[in-house]
Amino acid sequence: MKALVYHGPGQRSWDSVDDPTIVDQTDIVVRVETSTICGSDLHILKGDVPETAAGTVLGHEAVGVVVEIGSSVGSVVVGDRVLLSCISSCGRCRYCKQARYGQCLGGGGWIFGHLIDGLQAEYARVPFADNSVFKVPEQLSDEQVLFLADILPTAYEVGVLNGRVAPGDVVAIVGAGPVGLAAILTAQLYTPGKIIAIDLADSRLQRALDFGAHSTINNGREDALAQVLELTDGNGADAALEAVGLPATFELACELIRPGGRVANIGVHGHSATLHLERLWTRDVTITTGLVDTSTIPQLLKLVADGRLDPTVFATHHFALDDTMAAYDVFADADHTDALKVVLSGSDVAVHVDPRLAAPAVA
Ligand code: NAD
Ligand code: ZN
Repeated sequence: MKALVYHGPGQRSWDSVDDPTIVDQTDIVVRVETSTICGSDLHILKGDVPETAAGTVLGHEAVGVVVEIGSSVGSVVVGDRVLLSCISSCGRCRYCKQARYGQCLGGGGWIFGHLIDGLQAEYARVPFADNSVFKVPEQLSDEQVLFLADILPTAYEVGVLNGRVAPGDVVAIVGAGPVGLAAILTAQLYTPGKIIAIDLADSRLQRALDFGAHSTINNGREDALAQVLELTDGNGADAALEAVGLPATFELACELIRPGGRVANIGVHGHSATLHLERLWTRDVTITTGLVDTSTIPQLLKLVADGRLDPTVFATHHFALDDTMAAYDVFADADHTDALKVVLSGSDVAVHVDPRLAAPAVA
């Protein structure tokens, strides 16, 4: 099969690699129908994620069709269309039992395209299938559910739910990339009074308005703290969601918050940030951190099926899976291409009958 392979910092190629097979009887193999690229893939390519070995197939978000199942898999059958989460869950460890799948101790967590071969490929081995994949309701397209693999649950769980966004709240969201925009979408499930989006890029702030933000602040030109205070009668935000991952943006989120408010950090940080306890200690502020668990995928799937959430707005560019190399170029150059998420589509599944579909399930 073909797959997008990481060959060390700065190097990737669309290679012929061995077809994946069942290794553990809790595995399935899927034919990838639709996949996408994430900012984390770019981090790996920059060399920021040393645990990812050269030779790893990248990608951790996809929809696929089951072509093989291990003997102990009971919840899906060959031919099922499934959403593959960026987080795998062993289902047995203490954290999986609390639905903290991101912290899985049994070999799950973020493994696709990180510690094992990922999903920008024609086929993929999916460990712990019973606990880690979600059948896609028949009426929903791949594109309607694809972004539930990562950015939607990330923004919702680590941002909106950790930040305890409530009706009427002023929600300040620092960073209007795909995750910040997903926070704008999912914060609206709680009818906030006002959503304020903060970013350095005017194109991203325009998107933020399109996604439902009420006000925008370009903190490259404007004093974000002064603006937020002005928009909140001097109080500050009820919830501040950090969706960038820089010391400066975390520190800004902590400044914007009103007494009693919540700062929910979503960004992945590579450097230490300063926590101004000398200012915060009197303010009854809650600060949360988190790695996505994707425990809310069933709830988000229901919202999409009921027409309450439309994730297709993230799909700005479409490519054939064969063109994943070109898709990376476009996604990595978002400043010029204005890309949010690229959709990579495998060969036409409706007419293409895979010979493996006809094969009996592996015993
Ligand atoms: P992105 O890089 O595509 O977007 C970041 C946005 O922040 C951009 O619009 C950029 O213009 C803006 N920005 C950069 N510097 C800024 C500054 N100083 N002030 C204001 N805005 C600034 O990233 P993304 O894909 O949207 O992801 C956002 C963060 O979430 C990243 O750090 C990512 O690694 C993280 N993330 C966390 C989890 C988790 O489980 N916690 C999961 C997925 C992604
Ligand atoms: Zn991701």
